[in-house]
Amino acid sequence: MAQAAPETFGFQTEAKQLLKLMIHSLYSSREIFLRELISNASDAIDKLRFEAIERPELIEGDADYHIDITFDADAGTLTIADNGIGMTRDEVIANLGTIARSGTAEFLERLTGDQKKDSALIGQFGVGFYSAFIVADEVEVRTRGAGTDDGVCWRSRGEDQFTIESASDVPRGAQVVLHLKDDAKEFLDGYRLRAVVRRYSDHIGVPVRMLEERTSSDDDAEAPEPTMEAVNEAKALWTRSRSDVTDDEYKAFYKHVSHDFEEPLSWSHNRVEGKLEYTSLLYLPKRAPFDLWNRDVPRGLKLYVQRVFIMDEAEQFLPLYLRFVKGVVDSNDLPLNVSREILQQDERVTTIKNALTKRVLTMLKSMADKEADDYQAFWDEFGEVLKEGAGEDFANREALLGLLRFASTRGDDNTKNVGLDAYLERKAEGQDKIYYVVAESWEHARNSPHIEVLKEQGIEVLLLFDRIDEWLMSGLDQYKDVQFQDAMRADIALPGKDEESTEGDKADDANEALTERIKTVLGERVEDVVVSKRLSQSPACLVLGQFAMGAQMRRIFEASGQAVPESKPIFEYNPTHPLIQRLDAESDEDRFEDLALVLFDQAALAEGEAPADAAGYVNRLNRLLLELMGG
Ligand code: ADP
Repeated sequence: MAQAAPETFGFQTEAKQLLKLMIHSLYSSREIFLRELISNASDAIDKLRFEAIERPELIEGDADYHIDITFDADAGTLTIADNGIGMTRDEVIANLGTIARSGTAEFLERLTGDQKKDSALIGQFGVGFYSAFIVADEVEVRTRGAGTDDGVCWRSRGEDQFTIESASDVPRGAQVVLHLKDDAKEFLDGYRLRAVVRRYSDHIGVPVRMLEERTSSDDDAEAPEPTMEAVNEAKALWTRSRSDVTDDEYKAFYKHVSHDFEEPLSWSHNRVEGKLEYTSLLYLPKRAPFDLWNRDVPRGLKLYVQRVFIMDEAEQFLPLYLRFVKGVVDSNDLPLNVSREILQQDERVTTIKNALTKRVLTMLKSMADKEADDYQAFWDEFGEVLKEGAGEDFANREALLGLLRFASTRGDDNTKNVGLDAYLERKAEGQDKIYYVVAESWEHARNSPHIEVLKEQGIEVLLLFDRIDEWLMSGLDQYKDVQFQDAMRADIALPGKDEESTEGDKADDANEALTERIKTVLGERVEDVVVSKRLSQSPACLVLGQFAMGAQMRRIFEASGQAVPESKPIFEYNPTHPLIQRLDAESDEDRFEDLALVLFDQAALAEGEAPADAAGYVNRLNRLLLELMGG
């Protein structure tokens, strides 16, 4: 049969930009291309092992799995060959023709042009196969899918296109041939390659082989042809005992499972024996992946059963809020033919999931206690995700609450570094609540009129301004038997103020007439008008009824197109404020109305909300200003 001519395909629009950037940013650590390609080869062998459980014919009589690295100094080529699952023509097009994934354009926008920062970002994005173009000006992949007859050859210069043609005599698996750039010829050296393989791929469970090096005396003698020999340890890292594994090996393995270029923040390696037997190796990354918030992206641990790779992204072993954790779980009890559906219902999986969740939380707690700086770095990256857990995971709520960090009125800036334990330890005498305020930003929270009296009393208030905060707090009741108290709610209890409630009643009585006058003006705009206990500097503020939805939740609901139940604020005023006293003394009803409405709108403004009738507000304020200026 005549060979068909190569067919040409284009990469997506962003691909060229992405490749160029990657080559540029990763230039200084370019040897990592070898780690990426070996990692892919090892994954391909893992996949074949797994598929062959059900279909042993795929092995084609060759179960001697290995990854071979060879080079041809004259031709300037380096080849990484595996006898794994390989790819069919369609798979080649789908897998190697799609550089840019969803979110790429957005990702590219985040790049800064600063090589160091960008290389970390590129690492988060995961370059995988395409890292070959850091060292090669042309890449060729010859591959044949296990159990299929037709080989394919993919070829590209890493610009905007690639070609595909059929190829004959292709062994099962994939051979990636790199035509090295002139400045990357250093990789045509056995010693150099061995060093890189050992550094990055020692922990791979498959032998990575190279031709044995010949010494010069071998050359002289009639030595036999050199043969292939394994250059790595070829023992899956998590199967080794903890004391045998060095930190560098743990770090290298992390890069293999996570596709992260940075080192992990921390890890925990455990073997559990007893009713259930399993090994887990869990890593906390340093940085959040660029798509952490995309809930549709699959995430999870690599699942092995009795050392056989079963699947990537087995999300059943950790709750969604721990989706940033990377690693491996290897079970001795699950069946080899386990599917995602079975995992979802299996009680053993639930038991492992509960144990792994506790393990991660313990790891975080010990970091928070012993390595406060590391924990702060973790919190800055992943804090918001952990808050999801505090809202969702009732079984571990107390532990999760202890891990939360907030900004507070004790701090000078928006750093979130106050834990609830620290808060309780230094709470004021007589204080029996954990006070907090939720706002759009740290500035709004800190300057909120609602906390004026609390601040004056020296009571620390937690300042919450993450998108998730109102949702989180609405589900929380107490921590270590101390109630949470939202400083914006009508029912606020202030230390020392309750005993003075008769004084409060007196204030209410004394101002009854004013309260009624304001009520008449504000009318339907408010639920109620009351004298405030919490204000000292500001004339007025708006507070929420006990069950009313706050501004932040309201916005989230509105953005998602859901109907928001109607709720009106309660207008609280400070009778000692000069403006309120002026208001009280005002006999001109029109002016009274203008001033009362301006105070109402300003209370919304102080919370970062626009007045409902902005034009009306401006008109009224201008009238008052003109009068003031004698106009
Ligand atoms: P990732 O490994 O993160 O999925 P890559 O860009 O490295 O991304 O690879 C893309 C896909 O190409 C892989 O998911 C795999 O399906 C396929 N692939 C890469 N290398 C091989 C190989 N040696 N054998 C079989 N398939 C491979």
